[in-house]
Amino acid sequence: MAKLIDGKMIAGKVMEEVAEGSRRLVAQYGEEARPNMTLVLVGSDPVSKKLVDLKAKDCEKTGITPTVIALSETTSEEKLLRLVDRLNSDEDVKAILCQLPVPEHISTKKLLAAIAPEKDVDGFSARIDSDDYDIAACTPAAVMRMLKESGVEVAGKHCVVVGRDNMVGKPMAIQLLLNDATVTVCHSKTAELAEHTRRADVLIVAVQKPRFVTGDMVKEGAVVIDVGMNYIDGHPVGDVDFDSVEPKASMITPVPGGVGPMTRAGLLVNALKLAERKTK
Ligand code: NAP
Repeated sequence: MAKLIDGKMIAGKVMEEVAEGSRRLVAQYGEEARPNMTLVLVGSDPVSKKLVDLKAKDCEKTGITPTVIALSETTSEEKLLRLVDRLNSDEDVKAILCQLPVPEHISTKKLLAAIAPEKDVDGFSARIDSDDYDIAACTPAAVMRMLKESGVEVAGKHCVVVGRDNMVGKPMAIQLLLNDATVTVCHSKTAELAEHTRRADVLIVAVQKPRFVTGDMVKEGAVVIDVGMNYIDGHPVGDVDFDSVEPKASMITPVPGGVGPMTRAGLLVNALKLAERKTK
């Protein structure tokens, strides 16, 4: 039976560390140094709204001051970009988050590119051509922390990432490389996918396809990290078929309660780092 990697429990530990960091910052530099986060929500999608509420509550619990700006579904791209511009130049704003997805008439690419890297709390600016991985993309950073907390050393191991998207797969591969893993990245054009996944010591799956990776695609004793979050009949389901993979894996993340809570905690870690940078 595989050991479950408990994202909720590790996220609790990370949040305590962030709360302590916020307290330290305020004690040392005064109330002005307190971390803050401006969360921008466009439209009324209930899942996005719930996520923004949860993120704002997480901020409150960890000594980070949240400000939520809710805009109507019909907000134009131009108006949204102007707002981001204003937040970029507002000295009091230390971290900016734009909740995705945004309505179709707004370009996600343009929006994310508009956020100043020194305020990008999601860590999307930490691109391949940047050496600045201190503010890392939250999901890959969450996965690295979960592996570390579980005693999994990736150096010298063969790690296979399924998915090459800019928000998860690509930055995940870089994080693994920076930690001395040997990395294979698979995608929709990969031939003989299972040949690759079966060679993984650590298998990380982010494809947005429910229960896509099955037991026959996994090596005996592999560590399996399921980044996927899909909904079937309102229930959260990962990209890994837990029932067939769990008996073969040595460790596995559940969905829900795995990578999800850790990604949210990663935001708080980044918000604290951005506030700390302002004091230097
Ligand atoms: P995405 O943008 O849809 O990217 C999916 C990736 O999977 C693409 O690179 C795609 O390859 C690849 N892919 C699709 N079909 C494939 C196949 N048959 N074989 C191999 N690769 C295939 O999704 P994403 O934003 O990276 O998100 C991935 C998953 O993570 C989703 O389920 C999402 O909900 C979840 N997620 C969870 C969290 C969390 O906190 N838990 C955070 C972020 C994302 P191509 O590039 O060739 O198209």
